[in-house]
Amino acid sequence: MPRFFMDRGEIGPGFAVLTGEQAAHARVLRLKSGDRVTLCDGQGTDYQCVIDQVHPDRIRLAVESQGSAASEAAVTVRVFMAFAKGDKPEHVIQKATELGAAEILLFPSSRCVMRLDGKSQEKKLARWQKIAASAAEQSGRGRIPIVQVLSSYEEAVAEAARADRALFFYENEETVTLTEALREPFSTVSLMTGPEGGFEDREVEAARAAGMTVCSLGKRILRCETAPLCALSAVMFAAGEF
Ligand code: SAH
Repeated sequence: MPRFFMDRGEIGPGFAVLTGEQAAHARVLRLKSGDRVTLCDGQGTDYQCVIDQVHPDRIRLAVESQGSAASEAAVTVRVFMAFAKGDKPEHVIQKATELGAAEILLFPSSRCVMRLDGKSQEKKLARWQKIAASAAEQSGRGRIPIVQVLSSYEEAVAEAARADRALFFYENEETVTLTEALREPFSTVSLMTGPEGGFEDREVEAARAAGMTVCSLGKRILRCETAPLCALSAVMFAAGEF
């Protein structure tokens, strides 16, 4: 069924109106009166609608029911990724959205090569949020993941530690496995991974001191754009999402 994202504030009591690009998209799909569509408010609620009237520049929908978005994961997973070079952040934002992440938060760490200053940060963040919105639409998400840039490593660790399972992935960890870390039931998870150069020992200790579980992602060294997606897929599997 065709899905359209619409701000909750634009959805009236019992009706909604598609205009602009959304109306053009509906026309491309040759939607007509009586056809069913889903409106998503991007915050986890879906509205089941029927097309009521079709005009050249707007389409009026009758809202029949609403409920939690069926495509959203039962667990809330926040992906914390250290700044990485090139289009690696874009790649992870797109794939993590498809895989069901609730938030993607980027942060600086000692070995990050990429640095963001005020202006470039604003531009990058706008672009990253658009990538999340477009991936959410393509993958049929009911929620558009929030993309954030955190100002320091310390802020990232403090934020990541606030979860039932706060997992810090260290490439030199040889004891604690992801299987063990996910053995007990959980509803909120933080996944933290480092940049191309990995983490400094003192960064690992700071995460441990904040109560995060330092964890391995197996015997092979994954690239910084592979690790978050590997961890996210494993968490979704453990949560029964697949
Ligand atoms: N410096 C490393 C590469 C770092 S990979 C090297 O080339 O040797 C980037 C990040 O991915 C790491 O900081 C870690 O967070 C995660 N990662 C990669 N492989 C991992 C593994 N086997 N176990 C745990 N984390 C891993």
